[in-house]
Amino acid sequence: MNTPMWIAGQARTADTWAPVHDPYTGREVGRVPVATKAQIVEAIELMTRGGPSKLTRNQRSVILRRVAELIRADADTLARLDSSESGLCLKDTRHEIARSIDVLNVAADATTFDDSSVYPGAIGACGKNRRIFTQREPLGLAAALTPFNHPLNQVVHKIAPAIAAGTPMIVKPSEKTPLTALRLAEICYEAGLPPEMLSVVTGNPGEIAEVFTTHPAVALINFTGSPAVGKRLVQMAGYRKMVVELGGNDPLIVMEDADVEKAAEIAVGGAYGNSGQRCTAVKRILVQRGIADAFVAALARRTQALVCGNPMDERTDIGTVIDEAAAIAIERRVEAALAAGATLVTGQPRQGALFHPTVLDHVPADCELVAEETFGPVAPVIRFDDIDQAIALSNGTRYGLSSGVCTDRLDWVTRFVTELKVGSLNVWEAPGYRSEASPFGGVKDSGLGCKEGVAEAIKLYSTIKTFSLPWPNP
Ligand code: NAP
Repeated sequence: MNTPMWIAGQARTADTWAPVHDPYTGREVGRVPVATKAQIVEAIELMTRGGPSKLTRNQRSVILRRVAELIRADADTLARLDSSESGLCLKDTRHEIARSIDVLNVAADATTFDDSSVYPGAIGACGKNRRIFTQREPLGLAAALTPFNHPLNQVVHKIAPAIAAGTPMIVKPSEKTPLTALRLAEICYEAGLPPEMLSVVTGNPGEIAEVFTTHPAVALINFTGSPAVGKRLVQMAGYRKMVVELGGNDPLIVMEDADVEKAAEIAVGGAYGNSGQRCTAVKRILVQRGIADAFVAALARRTQALVCGNPMDERTDIGTVIDEAAAIAIERRVEAALAAGATLVTGQPRQGALFHPTVLDHVPADCELVAEETFGPVAPVIRFDDIDQAIALSNGTRYGLSSGVCTDRLDWVTRFVTELKVGSLNVWEAPGYRSEASPFGGVKDSGLGCKEGVAEAIKLYSTIKTFSLPWPNP
């Protein structure tokens, strides 16, 4: 079925169409237009010609809640659409939909908050009897490029704070998972979002990015994806605001005082949830040597209990990765780790894009499987002797997104909080834990330090203006 893209509320086709495939069956599940550069420019111009958005805070809040309600009403169909193009199992896509509803409601709540501040003018030897006030103003237009791993929530995390801030947004979702994003656009218009506030365009990522990074009306580009593409966009973007949320190689650190069953449960959820395709998935498990045998046994037992296979089967815990090429790349890294001295604890042969959850032990820290980001359901265990070594291993990759720590010792927690070079840390939780409102984002090759999460993202999608008035300063 051909699904149109959305240019400022108008359904648009193109001369060329790109197929979208179900990673599990390999069947074509839809086709989306390959937009021309002229169509992208047209979208930008239609969205900006009327000047800044006139929506009131209350109107923005009502629309956001209505989008959340419509998603809730359509949750089953949306989950199936999401699973059909991503290969994620229904358990994962239903969870994603619940998170998206939360994001929208948190963004609606945020419209009631005004972070304006007041500064006294009569300070210092040159002060004056004036007061200086701040107010936030929306941007003319923001552009976003999103990855495939959460076809709905990645887009909602861009759109919802933009609507809350009153900033129009043009989004290019991943070519691999555009159908859910296009359905979201329809829902937003149905909820009363004015057409000029949103476009969702599909097509050649390089060409679309070229327009985003050169058109003068685009005030901000918000990119989530791999470091290679993100860094290229930063170079192309020139003099405009740029937000990059990039990859991760997050550790779960299990210290010798940890309850191994509790730690193994966290490892399983963190390493395999969403088929291991989360920026904050557990990608390395660092375990103190004294409890490593017991921990690996608990991890293997829990891993073997998982149901893998047809994403549309309600019993399935782990669906496919995004495509067979991705599964082959993971398989090669696992084979290379085994050749370098790692041992296979549990795993099964790959079937197309289905990569079964795999536990490896004694993984050398310098093999590609753990030195780079491996985006799939693999749980590689690296053993260490003491906390100094755990911190060095944890900090020893180019990434710095998040981390999880299993210990009850406050002196160790204090050292991890202080010494891990990451954007976030969770004690007795997987690295992926966050609230939709709290600041989120990484350092090093995981990001430039800008934070998302609804409250911080609203700041990104706005500028602060200051104005001063003559005012006595008591
Ligand atoms: P990706 O290949 O970098 O793609 C991300 C987006 O950029 C997609 O829309 C993609 O389009 C587009 N793109 C690809 N090549 C481009 C180019 N030359 N110019 C402009 N845009 C281009 O990343 P991915 O494989 O989809 O996603 C996985 C990565 O995202 C992982 O590294 C993961 O850790 C990271 N991620 C980070 C976060 C975070 O918050 N830090 C969250 C989720 C995921 P097409 O798909 O159409 O090619």
